[in-house]
Amino acid sequence: MTNKTCVFTILGLLISSSALAASQVGHTEIAKWQYGKSGAVSLTYDDGSINQFRVAVPIMDSFGFPATFFIITGEIPGSQYHGTFIGRPTKAIIQETASVPTNQDNFLERASAIRFLGDQETRDSQTQAGELYDESNKFDQGYQLIDEAYAKLRRDVFKPAPEHEGSADGKHITWDELSALAGRGYEFASHTVTHPRLAVLDDANLVYELEKSRQDILDHLGFKHTFSVECPYGTENERAVRTALARYQVARNHMPDPYVEDIDRGSDMDPVGSSKEYVRWQRGALTETPMPVMKSWIDTTATRGNIWLALVFHGVDGIGWKPTTGAELREYFGYIKRKQDKLWVATFQDVAKYMRERMHGNVASYRDGDVISVVLRDDLTDLSYDIPLTLKTFVPSEWPAVEVRQGARTTRVKVARDKGNNFVLYQAVPNAEVVTLVSAQAGMQQIQTR
Ligand SMILES: [Zn+2]
Repeated sequence: MTNKTCVFTILGLLISSSALAASQVGHTEIAKWQYGKSGAVSLTYDDGSINQFRVAVPIMDSFGFPATFFIITGEIPGSQYHGTFIGRPTKAIIQETASVPTNQDNFLERASAIRFLGDQETRDSQTQAGELYDESNKFDQGYQLIDEAYAKLRRDVFKPAPEHEGSADGKHITWDELSALAGRGYEFASHTVTHPRLAVLDDANLVYELEKSRQDILDHLGFKHTFSVECPYGTENERAVRTALARYQVARNHMPDPYVEDIDRGSDMDPVGSSKEYVRWQRGALTETPMPVMKSWIDTTATRGNIWLALVFHGVDGIGWKPTTGAELREYFGYIKRKQDKLWVATFQDVAKYMRERMHGNVASYRDGDVISVVLRDDLTDLSYDIPLTLKTFVPSEWPAVEVRQGARTTRVKVARDKGNNFVLYQAVPNAEVVTLVSAQAGMQQIQTR
């Protein structure tokens, strides 16, 4: 919590979350994780390959788990925007390559255009040059690859690239199917229009990939699904990340929030070694990943207290990159389910929202006779940051149960004990009505856990 000093001049006992001892009745804090759990797990899938929906979704349904899918929008039938080059006529670019070698001034334009020219081999040169440029700073080798690709283009008869639009052939998921899944709590998120190496696109094409993908998602699934993005290949390229974060609230490939230790898939840093408030621990579950290792990530997350495990899956049952199998997913999700008393399994956006709302939030509470009142505020935009937070309030020992009211919503929660003090856990929406707690009859339901 950013313990801003809470100044409340309402009559009654004033209690600041930071100033008074936890044992004091009325003291309220924002739980580190939703429902007071010990850690968070997000199941995420990249590239939108078909068995993610045909195989993995029914398995997740059977466990009641939500998930987040980073989809390549240009491949989905019915999308308005597909892969295309934004810029000068490509004929002029090709001609220029005959006399001017590729260099730092023309590289991004050429690398952007080549993806839509020639045959598969010339098109793939963008991906290969991108890998050299983005992952190992081998710029000259990247330039050389682009030169070779254009030399091939100049020798060959010009062959336009085939249309990249997917068709409703059963191999591609449709927007209608995605919309139905979105209605059931699954999150969709951008993985760009065509899955390029963003680091080697010029600004116009970089913006196109990020903005037009967002636009198709907005048009087909609605604003809620424009929250998250994953830049392809998990790039850390500064310009790509900055451009993405100007258009999306959170990126899976990079989270700059100062209170988050961001451990990406390629890092072998031990999450237990971090002293930050939160650790976002990305792990890729691939074909070769042993099940005991995958389970050990769950164990660490359930016991450590500050870890958000962002699991990344690609292919499923033979379709997609480095696929896992449905049988493995069933075993793994069953393992997670057995630890659900400790783990909050939630979409990528919900966990990001929770952490930010809590870190940007403050809570103040006061007791006036038989009523405890709690005010929860954060300084984020309510349009995007809309999930309730779990609050923990200490209550008088003689209260058998507690009725919690915020606006029109009333819930009854059980009293629990912590080091001899009675408390309740309940949910409240930030920047909304004052929450009131009063004594209620015992035997009521505890806080909902999913
Ligand atoms: Zn991908």
